[in-house]
Amino acid sequence: MANFNTLDGVNVAGKRVLLRADLNVPMKDGVVGDTTRIERTVPGLIELADAGAKLIVISHFGRPKGERVAEMSLKPVADALAKQLGRPVKFADDCIGAAAAAVVDGLKDGEIALLENLRYHSEEEKNDPAFAAELAKLGDIFVNDAFSCAHRAHASTEGLARKLPAYAGRLMQAELEALGNALEAPKHPVMAIVGGAKISTKLDLLGNLVARVDQLVIGGGMANTFLAAKGVNVGKSLCEHDLLETAREIFAKAKAANCEIVLPVDGLVAKEFKAHADYTVSDINDVDTNGMILDAGPKTIIDLNKRLESCETLVWNGPLGAFEIAPFDTATVSVAQQAAKLTKAGKLLSVAGGGDTVAALRHADADQDFSYVSTAGGAFLEWLEGKELPGVAALHD
Ligand code: AMP
Repeated sequence: MANFNTLDGVNVAGKRVLLRADLNVPMKDGVVGDTTRIERTVPGLIELADAGAKLIVISHFGRPKGERVAEMSLKPVADALAKQLGRPVKFADDCIGAAAAAVVDGLKDGEIALLENLRYHSEEEKNDPAFAAELAKLGDIFVNDAFSCAHRAHASTEGLARKLPAYAGRLMQAELEALGNALEAPKHPVMAIVGGAKISTKLDLLGNLVARVDQLVIGGGMANTFLAAKGVNVGKSLCEHDLLETAREIFAKAKAANCEIVLPVDGLVAKEFKAHADYTVSDINDVDTNGMILDAGPKTIIDLNKRLESCETLVWNGPLGAFEIAPFDTATVSVAQQAAKLTKAGKLLSVAGGGDTVAALRHADADQDFSYVSTAGGAFLEWLEGKELPGVAALHD
């Protein structure tokens, strides 16, 4: 597992703790919509405040590109955060300089402040050392609790960790531990399911996974490119015909790494991409030239669900079909529910995330029972690609 400093044994009493959170929450007309990110952040904040820290929370919000864009103020988030915490949150209308210092200097032990949007300063995204030094003046220690921003080397995710004693926050720690258990030191056999639209966006990810997992299930539109590379007629299905050679290279890499690539053996084939379109169940070698494979078929579902029974670990990114349009959500829902059931029974460690995966698992009503569902998006995908994330690297001993 990646080596990183945690808050275990760190005395924060009376210290100014500068905590990078990801409070980039959905907002409409100044009102916070989905509060999931805030809810996940709250227990870590309470732990620090209750331990006597003067807690200073920093975050970006939207893409103001170095301008003070009023709609991208974190002020409404301070109110939503206070509500979730059940305690007051002071707000500074700048994240550096006199305004920030005044609020920070007024904090008593156990009190919490939120500073204005980091990205009101263009230096944040440039990882400008002078800007990181300005931020560092406000704290005695730095806690990074924003795994979802860790793939970016920004001042608040990377630079700051070089200027102050730096630790992973509890949320970051939980995410790193869950991911570590799934891919860095997993129990075998390990299955990865990679679905979604195209392989072109997931080449690095596939390349990393074949070297690490025992079975790589390829589903969704991506599977069509692999099937076509094997000479299967995929009709009018979504398929990257220019990447057949790339798909063959991945087959070869998998073979060399002793990783079995598992492809659909049948599919639901329709002539229109729309909900409740007429479809036929086709063997994969018998797809209508005018048809589109929009989901894996019943034989494939049985095969995947059976395979899962003998796996210890599952890593999942991307749906197995066009899950937004019924009934082409059938394979995604069935396999997600099987993974959830096995996880709940203590037989499987399951980690999922990236892109549409969270929505797909929620749609399947399976997300609650997975061991870990990452909402980190880009950071989760870069982790699946085997890349070291700069925000995590900066937390190494
Ligand atoms: P991604 O963002 O790469 O994970 O792709 C997710 C998208 O892939 C979803 O919007 C799905 O509807 C789409 N998708 C999955 N399977 C298929 C398929 N067989 N044909 C067309 N689109 C698909």
